[in-house]
Amino acid sequence: MHAMVLNQIGTDLVWTELPDRLPGPAEIRVQVLACGVCRTDLHVVDGELPDPRVPIIPGHEIVGRIDALGKEVRGLSIGQRVGIPWLGHTCGFCPYCRMKRENLCDHPLFTGYTRDGGFATATLADARFAFPLGEIGDDASLAPLLCAGLIGWRALDIAGPGKNLGLYGFGAAAHILAQVARWQGRSVFAFTRPGDLATQDFARSLHATWAGGSDERPPQLLDAAIIFATVGDLVPLALQAVRKGGRVVCAGIHMSDIPRFPYRLLWEERQLLSVANLTRQDGLDFLRLVPQMNIVTRVTRYPLQQANQALADLRAGRFDGAAVLLT
Ligand SMILES: [Zn+2]
Ligand SMILES: [Zn+2]
Repeated sequence: MHAMVLNQIGTDLVWTELPDRLPGPAEIRVQVLACGVCRTDLHVVDGELPDPRVPIIPGHEIVGRIDALGKEVRGLSIGQRVGIPWLGHTCGFCPYCRMKRENLCDHPLFTGYTRDGGFATATLADARFAFPLGEIGDDASLAPLLCAGLIGWRALDIAGPGKNLGLYGFGAAAHILAQVARWQGRSVFAFTRPGDLATQDFARSLHATWAGGSDERPPQLLDAAIIFATVGDLVPLALQAVRKGGRVVCAGIHMSDIPRFPYRLLWEERQLLSVANLTRQDGLDFLRLVPQMNIVTRVTRYPLQQANQALADLRAGRFDGAAVLLT
């Protein structure tokens, strides 16, 4: 197998030939067809997440086909197309696992961060954390659903059922979530970097009711706002944009510091929350609805060996939607 390997934090990934791996008893081996590139991959490369593990193969939006099964694996078969998400393993016995909040497991493994991921021609996965994808939809279009879509879905649930929804940072996750929210009958207010008119047009093309810079006030107060951008300065701005009792949800795994802000922005029962990871149930719920929601992902394709270019383009905001690596 070949992979784009991160050998040292802060360096380019290196195209590397590795010995083929055999799945453990509870694992599957998957030939990777497509793997999305997520903001979290940049945090992994930059060493912004705690306890980084190197060498590591990043990538946690994997679409592939099973080509080997561990002997304890049930319910999956050779040749089946599956998706492998960020949550790669949970312990099953900690208090969070027992209260069905496995996204907060005390002893988790995360794909592409603490276990090898999908910037590779093949990968191993814990079979219990792979989602059967069926045969509808092309590989590259499905890949971003496995993190951008899934984390967005969980964030949307936590944001509550309010109609007027703000999305701060209109990248891979928000462009999927805007379509989900519209399918649910909500109105989307899209906030981009100030002056990024192209992304504001992109948001309007996905039927956003309003699109503007993050320094602008929306034309009406929002019921909830989800912040996907990694910029802590957005938190007080989003609190100012939501109504009394409204919610602001921080959906990123890493964010710059939140500046001091006056208590009156939180007053009147506004809520500030974060979303961490996903549960398998989130994945099942979301992927079951995907065929009905007619989500069209905007995808920029790169050959696997150009993973560094894809990461650089993501960092610079050079494309709308999501980047996907193809083997
Ligand atoms: Zn656990
Ligand atoms: Zn991700």
